[in-house]
Amino acid sequence: MLSLLPPRLLQRFGVLGVCAALLLPVAPAQAQVSNNRLPNLGDGADVPLGVERRLGESIAREIYRDPDYLDDPVLGDYVQSIWQPLLASARQRGELTPELEQQFAWEVSLIRDRSINAFALPGGYLGVHLGLISAVSSADELASVLAHELSHVTQRHIARMISQQGRQGPMVMGAMILGMLAASRSVNSSSISAGNALMVGGQAAAIQSQLNFSRDMEREADRVGYGVMTEAGYEPQGFVTMFEKLQQAARLNDNGSFPYLRSHPMTTERISDAQARQQLLPKLGAVPTTPTHAMMSARAQVLAKPGVDVLRSIAAQATPSNLAAANRPKQAGLLYGATLAEMQQRHFAVARQHLTQLQGLSGLELSAVRAVRLLAAELALASGDAAQAVALLDLKATVLANNDRATRMQLARSRVGTQKPAQGKLAANELALWLSQHPRDASAWQLQASAFELQGDALRAIRAQAEARAMELDYGAAVDRFKAAQTLAHQMASEGKLDGAGHMEASIIDARLRELERLRREQALERGIN
Ligand SMILES: [Zn+2]
Repeated sequence: MLSLLPPRLLQRFGVLGVCAALLLPVAPAQAQVSNNRLPNLGDGADVPLGVERRLGESIAREIYRDPDYLDDPVLGDYVQSIWQPLLASARQRGELTPELEQQFAWEVSLIRDRSINAFALPGGYLGVHLGLISAVSSADELASVLAHELSHVTQRHIARMISQQGRQGPMVMGAMILGMLAASRSVNSSSISAGNALMVGGQAAAIQSQLNFSRDMEREADRVGYGVMTEAGYEPQGFVTMFEKLQQAARLNDNGSFPYLRSHPMTTERISDAQARQQLLPKLGAVPTTPTHAMMSARAQVLAKPGVDVLRSIAAQATPSNLAAANRPKQAGLLYGATLAEMQQRHFAVARQHLTQLQGLSGLELSAVRAVRLLAAELALASGDAAQAVALLDLKATVLANNDRATRMQLARSRVGTQKPAQGKLAANELALWLSQHPRDASAWQLQASAFELQGDALRAIRAQAEARAMELDYGAAVDRFKAAQTLAHQMASEGKLDGAGHMEASIIDARLRELERLRREQALERGIN
């Protein structure tokens, strides 16, 4: 109900965008699904996929505008390296049907927040707080959380929730979800003051009971998620240790740093299910941490904006005695964290010392070597040596893996950083290749705009900016940019400055403008109705 959320707050959520807790529930039994419907627990067949997707888009649009939405290609690739095998497993098992796969987004967004949370939104949009990545000890633990969230989507639990709330209209529902996400953010997160968080928290409690996954849904997400992650090749032990971490936090009542517990309460049924599963497993210790995971975990901790005191303490941990006492993965994590923490404080010389030590570690797996190389390029670029960053990444002899987005993005950024038009041209060409396969990559479009600007190609630069806005689902801003591109094209044509390729570009701009105007009308209509 709208009355639960005063317009002033609604507006604030809209501005804050979002972030944080999952779709909610503290009072888990509220949305009780009667037992005789259990076999169809997740069918959600009465909410068309398209409706759920559009609701998801309206929420995702706000997430993309949130200052704490983070497109970090390095962490993004790491999460994708776990997420894609889970999707493949769900596909193999039949939970991810071709229809669902095609109609939903299946995107995982990173949120710059220190609290431990992951959430699934309508339409296959998911989110992960950096705090979760820095808290888990292995990819397998992260996989267990992502597989659980994935299963909420594939089992259509969200659709069921939407249909229960359907009388309120999707836009109200969207605002409620945004409010819940805002409420789950760290109290001292940059965008929420303590006072606001308390107020939001009070409202949140009232709304929570309306946006509930039932106990049965939670158990089903555990059961299906466990199957998805283990069949994807992750260690069952990762599920067990993650569950133990959450249980431990629940015992300490640590809801503040674990908003995940508010949305996924540790009910006795879930715990006994987990114990039953565990009894079938051989007694094993935790899955060992790898150097790659240790470094990504350190990166998540540093990028979560922990404040200068924490940055200093992260940097101070890489002492000779700590390093001597640590195993290889821990050493990699300590040195990676120290390098990045010093870099964030612009202490480039000290950062380089840590990096040199990190580069000297032997026996790192290939993905770890890649992470170190990317860090070296990042440091070179940040300290003003773009040419060195290019040299580190422009490895003609190495064939980049298809999914190595971070290297492509960092290389393009470094090329643009050289301020040399010839490098801008290379960057634009390389990005064009990437974008032909990943047309929804907003950051790549934005980077391509910079590459075109560097070459003095204003027309393509404006079009790339327009595409970036479109991919962020901000159709109004996209239309504005396409109109600007169209005006420029007309002007260039009248001055005889448009060559054959320019005319082709102009006709693409015309077609895209019509398409985006249609999308903007639909967006306005949806908002108007609701
Ligand atoms: Zn859940």
